[in-house]
Amino acid sequence: APTALDAACIFCKIIKGEIPSFKLIETKYSYAFLDIQPTAEGHALIIPKYHGAKLHDIPDEFLTDAMPIAKRLAKAMKLDTYNILQNNGKIAHQEVDHVHFHLIPKRDEKTGLI
Ligand code: 5GP
Ligand code: ZN
Repeated sequence: APTALDAACIFCKIIKGEIPSFKLIETKYSYAFLDIQPTAEGHALIIPKYHGAKLHDIPDEFLTDAMPIAKRLAKAMKLDTYNILQNNGKIAHQEVDHVHFHLIPKRDEKTGLI
Protein backbone atom coordinates (compact mmCIF):
# COMPACT_ATOMS: atom_id res chain seq x y z
CA ALA A 1 0.00 0.00 0.00
CA PRO A 2 1.29 3.49 -0.77
CA THR A 3 2.11 5.87 2.07
CA ALA A 4 4.09 4.14 4.76
CA LEU A 5 5.50 7.34 6.20
CA ASP A 6 7.72 8.20 9.18
CA ALA A 7 6.41 10.97 11.48
CA ALA A 8 9.95 12.25 12.20
CA CYS A 9 11.23 12.37 8.59
CA ILE A 10 11.43 15.76 6.85
CA PHE A 11 10.62 14.34 3.41
CA CYS A 12 7.63 12.43 4.83
CA LYS A 13 6.50 15.76 6.30
CA ILE A 14 6.86 17.36 2.86
CA ILE A 15 4.68 14.59 1.35
CA LYS A 16 2.04 15.23 4.02
CA GLY A 17 2.24 19.02 3.52
CA GLU A 18 3.47 19.58 7.08
CA ILE A 19 6.59 21.27 5.67
CA PRO A 20 6.02 23.52 2.65
CA SER A 21 7.61 22.68 -0.69
CA PHE A 22 7.42 23.81 -4.30
CA LYS A 23 5.54 20.81 -5.70
CA LEU A 24 6.15 19.88 -9.33
CA ILE A 25 4.37 16.55 -9.84
CA GLU A 26 2.53 14.15 -7.55
CA THR A 27 1.36 10.63 -8.38
CA LYS A 28 0.03 7.72 -6.32
CA TYR A 29 3.60 6.59 -5.65
CA SER A 30 5.79 9.68 -5.94
CA TYR A 31 6.17 13.32 -5.01
CA ALA A 32 8.46 15.69 -6.93
CA PHE A 33 9.49 19.14 -5.72
CA LEU A 34 12.25 21.73 -6.04
CA ASP A 35 15.41 21.30 -3.98
CA ILE A 36 15.69 24.03 -1.34
CA GLN A 37 19.42 24.50 -2.11
CA PRO A 38 19.52 24.06 -5.88
CA THR A 39 22.86 23.45 -7.59
CA ALA A 40 21.18 24.62 -10.84
CA GLU A 41 17.89 26.31 -11.70
CA GLY A 42 15.19 23.63 -11.71
CA HIS A 43 17.10 21.19 -9.46
CA ALA A 44 14.31 18.79 -8.51
CA LEU A 45 13.91 15.89 -6.10
CA ILE A 46 11.67 12.91 -6.82
CA ILE A 47 10.79 10.89 -3.75
CA PRO A 48 8.74 7.74 -3.15
CA LYS A 49 5.65 8.22 -0.98
CA TYR A 50 7.09 5.47 1.19
CA HIS A 51 9.63 5.96 3.94
CA GLY A 52 12.92 4.18 3.44
CA ALA A 53 16.49 5.44 3.68
CA LYS A 54 18.07 3.51 0.84
CA LEU A 55 17.11 2.20 -2.58
CA HIS A 56 16.91 -1.39 -1.36
CA ASP A 57 14.40 -0.37 1.34
CA ILE A 58 11.80 0.76 -1.21
CA PRO A 59 9.21 -1.48 -2.92
CA ASP A 60 9.63 -1.73 -6.68
CA GLU A 61 6.36 -0.06 -7.64
CA PHE A 62 7.59 3.19 -6.08
CA LEU A 63 10.93 2.99 -7.88
CA THR A 64 9.41 2.20 -11.27
CA ASP A 65 7.20 5.27 -10.89
CA ALA A 66 10.13 7.65 -10.34
CA MET A 67 11.97 7.59 -13.69
CA PRO A 68 8.95 8.46 -15.87
CA ILE A 69 8.54 11.49 -13.60
CA ALA A 70 12.17 12.44 -14.20
CA LYS A 71 11.41 12.18 -17.93
CA ARG A 72 8.31 14.37 -17.62
CA LEU A 73 10.23 17.01 -15.67
CA ALA A 74 13.15 17.00 -18.11
CA LYS A 75 10.72 17.48 -21.00
CA ALA A 76 8.75 20.19 -19.18
CA MET A 77 12.00 22.08 -18.48
CA LYS A 78 13.14 21.41 -22.06
CA LEU A 79 16.36 19.88 -20.73
CA ASP A 80 18.63 17.97 -23.04
CA THR A 81 21.54 17.67 -20.60
CA TYR A 82 21.10 16.72 -16.97
CA ASN A 83 22.16 14.31 -14.23
CA ILE A 84 20.01 11.87 -12.26
CA LEU A 85 21.64 11.18 -8.91
CA GLN A 86 20.61 9.06 -5.94
CA ASN A 87 22.90 8.72 -2.90
CA ASN A 88 22.81 5.77 -0.48
CA GLY A 89 24.57 6.21 2.87
CA LYS A 90 26.61 8.95 4.53
CA ILE A 91 29.86 7.95 2.80
CA ALA A 92 27.99 8.32 -0.50
CA HIS A 93 26.91 11.89 0.52
CA GLN A 94 23.36 11.06 1.57
CA GLU A 95 22.07 13.74 3.96
CA VAL A 96 18.34 13.00 4.10
CA ASP A 97 17.47 9.42 5.03
CA HIS A 98 14.47 9.14 2.72
CA VAL A 99 15.24 7.94 -0.82
CA HIS A 100 15.35 10.79 -3.32
CA PHE A 101 16.38 11.08 -6.94
CA HIS A 102 18.00 14.38 -7.85
CA LEU A 103 17.26 15.77 -11.31
CA ILE A 104 20.05 18.29 -11.87
CA PRO A 105 19.92 20.42 -15.01
CA LYS A 106 23.29 20.92 -16.73
CA ARG A 107 23.00 23.95 -18.93
CA ASP A 108 25.61 25.48 -21.19
CA GLU A 109 27.65 27.72 -18.86
CA LYS A 110 28.42 30.32 -21.54
CA THR A 111 24.97 30.82 -22.99
CA GLY A 112 22.72 29.66 -20.14
CA LEU A 113 20.76 27.81 -22.84
CA ILE A 114 19.82 24.12 -23.16
P1 5GP B 1 21.37 14.19 -0.39
O1 5GP B 1 22.69 14.81 -0.09
O2 5GP B 1 20.76 13.50 0.81
O3 5GP B 1 21.39 13.33 -1.62
O4 5GP B 1 20.42 15.41 -0.78
C1 5GP B 1 19.50 15.98 0.09
C2 5GP B 1 18.92 17.17 -0.66
O5 5GP B 1 17.72 17.56 -0.01
C3 5GP B 1 19.82 18.39 -0.67
O6 5GP B 1 20.07 18.78 -2.02
C4 5GP B 1 19.04 19.45 0.10
O7 5GP B 1 19.19 20.74 -0.43
C5 5GP B 1 17.62 18.96 -0.01
N1 5GP B 1 16.78 19.33 1.12
C6 5GP B 1 17.06 19.11 2.44
N2 5GP B 1 16.05 19.56 3.21
C7 5GP B 1 15.12 20.05 2.36
C8 5GP B 1 13.84 20.67 2.59
O8 5GP B 1 13.36 20.83 3.70
N3 5GP B 1 13.16 21.06 1.47
C9 5GP B 1 13.64 20.87 0.21
N4 5GP B 1 12.88 21.31 -0.82
N5 5GP B 1 14.84 20.30 -0.03
C10 5GP B 1 15.57 19.90 1.04
ZN1 ZN C 1 10.50 9.68 5.04
